[in-house]
Order: sequence, then C-alpha cells, then structure tokens
Amino acid sequence: MENVVILGSGAAGYTAAIYTARANLNPLLVDGSQPGGQLTTTTEVENYPGFPDGVDGFALMEAMRRQAERFGTRFVSASAVESRLTQQPLEVVLDNGDTLQTRTLIIATGATARYLGLPSEQALIGRGVSACATCDGAFYKDVPVAVVGGGDTAMEEALFLTRYASEVFVIHRRDRFRASEIMARRVLSHPKIRVIWNTVVEEVLDPQRKEVTGLRLKNVRSGESMSLAVKALFVAIGHQPNTAPFGDQLEKDANGYLVTQNTRTRIPGVYAAGDVADPVYRQAVTAAGTGCMAALEATRYLESLAH
Ligand code: NAP
Repeated sequence: MENVVILGSGAAGYTAAIYTARANLNPLLVDGSQPGGQLTTTTEVENYPGFPDGVDGFALMEAMRRQAERFGTRFVSASAVESRLTQQPLEVVLDNGDTLQTRTLIIATGATARYLGLPSEQALIGRGVSACATCDGAFYKDVPVAVVGGGDTAMEEALFLTRYASEVFVIHRRDRFRASEIMARRVLSHPKIRVIWNTVVEEVLDPQRKEVTGLRLKNVRSGESMSLAVKALFVAIGHQPNTAPFGDQLEKDANGYLVTQNTRTRIPGVYAAGDVADPVYRQAVTAAGTGCMAALEATRYLESLAH
C-alpha cells in the first residue's frame, strides 16, 4: 500500500514528488507516456524563474527529476490506464499490468497539445513548430511567423507573437473564427496580423534543413495552393487534458479539464495539479506551483488519517 502515487512526470508531478518525498511519504511517481512532460518538447525555457540565461527544457526536467530522486522518490516507467477512485484504498491500473493501491493520488497527467498530424510538422516540433507562443515566441524577433487555428488560444497566441514577430499570419480553415468576439476583433484590427481564411497547412518546410522556412498552404474553397515564407508555425488547435484513466469518476469542465478547489477533487485523497486541471495559465511555473499545493494537501490529508 502506497501513501502517495503521483501520475505524471512534468513540472507538476516532479514538484509534488519533491514535496511529498521531503515529507517522508516515500512517493511513487508513474512517468506516463512522455517522461519530463511538455517542457521536453521545447528547446530553451526563458521564463522559468531562477535561470537568468534561460535553461534547456529537457535539462530543467532532468534536474527536477534528480531533485525528486534525491529525497527518495521511486519512479515507475509506465502509464495509468484505469483507476478505481470511489473506494479506499484507491487503485490505479498501469499499462504494465500492475495495480497500485494508495491512500492518496496526485494526478499530474498534463494536457497534450493537439497537432495537425503532418509528418513535416512532427519532424520540426521544437525547431520552429511549437504549440506555445509564451514559451517560444521570443525566439522569432523581427521575422514573419504563422499561427494555425481559429479559437481563443489561436487569438491569444497571435496577439502575443506581435510583440516579437515582424508579421503574424493566422491561418484558419473556415471563414469565421470560433474565438470570442472580443478576441477575434483584437486580432482582426491588429496592424501586424493578417488572417488567411479558408486555408489549411499542407506541409511545413523544410525538414531537411531542420528549421522552418515556410508553409505550403491550400485554400479549401478554390483548391489553390500557395506558399508562405515564415520562420515558425504555432499550432493552436486546442489541448486535450489527459484524463482517460479516470473516466467519469472526477468532475470535469466543458473542455474536459479536471475541476479542483486548491487542487482537491471531489474525492478525498485525490488531487489534481498542473495542466490537467488548468485551462487558463498552462505554464511550467504554475504547474510546479499547483504540484506543491497538491503535495501539501495530500500530506495534510494523510496526517488527518493518522489521528
Ligand atoms: P477551440 O476553441 O477548440 O478552437 C480550436 C480551433 O482550432 C478551432 O478554430 C478549430 O477550427 C481549429 N482546428 C481544430 N482542429 C483543426 C485542424 N485539424 N486543422 C485546422 N484547424 C483546426 O480551442 P482553444 O482555442 O484552445 O480553446 C479551448 C477553450 O479554452 C475554449 O473554450 C476557449 O474559449 C478557452 N480559452 C479562452 C481564452 C480566453 O478567454 N482568453 C484563451 C484560450 C482558451 P474550427 O473553428 O473550424 O472548428
């Protein structure tokens, strides 16, 4: 029987591990399908406090892991596939066939940015293709960049990118934005932004050169192809919070994010931290912050069980 099982090895999971390990709770952390989480898909992180010269995303996550390990965190290289949370002990079934039993569970499974799925796009993730303008926008100063998507995230990304880029192209597959009126209006009236309607990205150039040099686009109405010279493509077609192992046992919002109050879910002993419960900020530092909160909540809960 475990005291604390943590699902996920991003900033939220590792921070929860550091705190619960230092509290002598001997946590077990299940890595998940992307060890190190979303930060491992970016090259340099410039907005994580404490690193005035920036830090490599992968290196940052490795450092967090070592810090969690130093205080006794145990790691399992597996993913959760199923859970039974309406009973004590809580149970989590892993894809290696094991079933974990635990008094508390910290869910830090993150959200997966959705990508278009083009092979050329996949080849250039972290090399000009990004799903996070806040993370990577500053690398593209005074050059043209593109955003694909027509929701609020795409609007936010495009507006953020105008701080750096010489021009921002928003590529949307329809002739209307899905975004809220106010965000759409800001984008449409911004002098640095040009919207390319009814258009999809067919190919990101140039995987051979290991950098983004442009896009091949197709107008879905006319069938016409065109190329667009940009130095980066920001994909903003939504995020998918990773909640499949929990089914309907936990409350979710309309977009599938777990609903929490100070990281507490509606089930005592079950906490959620980081992007899986954060439709708003989605930053490494906020994930680390809520990972800490979940760890402190779990620690208090275990203390209350002991008395
Ligand atoms: P979203 O609202 O689901 O929008 C996704 C956009 O991507 C849509 O415009 C969609 O096109 C497009 N898209 C999806 N799949 C595509 C594909 N394969 N190829 C090309 N385009 C594709 O997602 P979101 O913008 O991430 O927003 C998620 C939620 O968070 C929303 O409720 C949003 O309001 C909220 N949010 C709010 C704020 C804010 O208020 N400041 C900021 C960010 C997010 P179609 O329109 O044609 O379907």
